[in-house]
Amino acid sequence: MLTDFNAELALQQQQGLYRRRRIVEAVSGVELIVDGKPCLNFCSNDYLGLSQHPQLKAALQHAVSQYPLGSGSAHLICGHSHAHHALEEELAAFTGREKAVLFSTGYMANVGVISALCERGDWVLQDRLNHASLLDGALLSKARLQRYRHRNMADLKAKLSKAPGDVLLVSDGVFSMDGDLAPLPEMVGLTNTRNSLLMIDDAHGMAVLGRTGAGVVEHFELAQQDVPILMGTLGKGFGCFGAFVAGSEALIELLIQKARSYIYTTALPPTVCEATRVSLRLVQGEIGADKRAILQQNIAYFKQSARQIGLSLMPSDTAIQPLLIGDSQQALAISQQLWARGLWVSAIRPPTVPKGQARLRITLSALHQTQHIDTLLDALAHCLQ
Ligand SMILES: *Cc1c(COP(=O)(O)O)cnc(C)c1O
Repeated sequence: MLTDFNAELALQQQQGLYRRRRIVEAVSGVELIVDGKPCLNFCSNDYLGLSQHPQLKAALQHAVSQYPLGSGSAHLICGHSHAHHALEEELAAFTGREKAVLFSTGYMANVGVISALCERGDWVLQDRLNHASLLDGALLSKARLQRYRHRNMADLKAKLSKAPGDVLLVSDGVFSMDGDLAPLPEMVGLTNTRNSLLMIDDAHGMAVLGRTGAGVVEHFELAQQDVPILMGTLGKGFGCFGAFVAGSEALIELLIQKARSYIYTTALPPTVCEATRVSLRLVQGEIGADKRAILQQNIAYFKQSARQIGLSLMPSDTAIQPLLIGDSQQALAISQQLWARGLWVSAIRPPTVPKGQARLRITLSALHQTQHIDTLLDALAHCLQ
């Protein structure tokens, strides 16, 4: 138990792991005022810039005139409004699944699904770089957690063959700290052949990947029977808040009965759900397609220009473009130098990433202009010399 709080904090500081929060005071596109100082944002997950879209803001304002601000209760008491229900139906149609259920956050969705479906004696197989919420879900379930090497299908296959009983195979669709994609077609093949279920967490693919923005499953053209459990978040590419799980009617009904992080918590504000419905329409329509195209142009421009100045990028084609530094203190120092030049790029350190793999995590958005990316690259060239 941590009883000497100050000693523990000092230890965090010594290890270069101390985390501090900066106060965002104003937002205009990617230009922010933070702690009183102007800077460019390169660390948001609002990949399409929808959180600032006038149609979403107008939808929220209109919703406030129709709905109470907060839901006032859990879904199974009196918190499940028409706004929630309509959004669930629209998310099911969007993802091509029979049914969807909303969770208050992605963290809670992951913990809720895994702990509802798995019990002692089951195995939960996870990519080593999966999001913390997926690991926590497995720990809470009391199932046996086994981790395979990142995207390594030979290692996954070996571990699958050793499992004595039922297996839940779980992976990020787009890896949150690396930006690469899980090899979903191979994973589908491996889970088709035995007593196992595949769950994909598409927090970073939703709204961003696929022709209509339906994420990594649309990118790989995978149906409900291929990926029976699909989790998506609404606070990143959709620019709103919350999360959902989509799948068969029976799966979703079971989660409503059994997922404790669904049952024992207040439902999302219905007002936010109304704004999210508009976001979902934009994502599927022309506005979404245009924003995805701009984002892709920004990613291509960043990668090409970074290579020209000799930066070694990780193998990512998504909006998440990490620069591996290694040492935590050094990653922090570079992030601080960038900050001094008005560029906000977060240093990601253990335990979020493995030891010795601290990095700068650059995220791009459709709101960045070429000049913003040039400013970042100039600063990186200077700071990484
Ligand atoms: C952000 C994230 C989550 C958590 O979603 P929240 O809605 O922010 O709680 C889950 N999984 C992955 C891969 C994420 O990146």
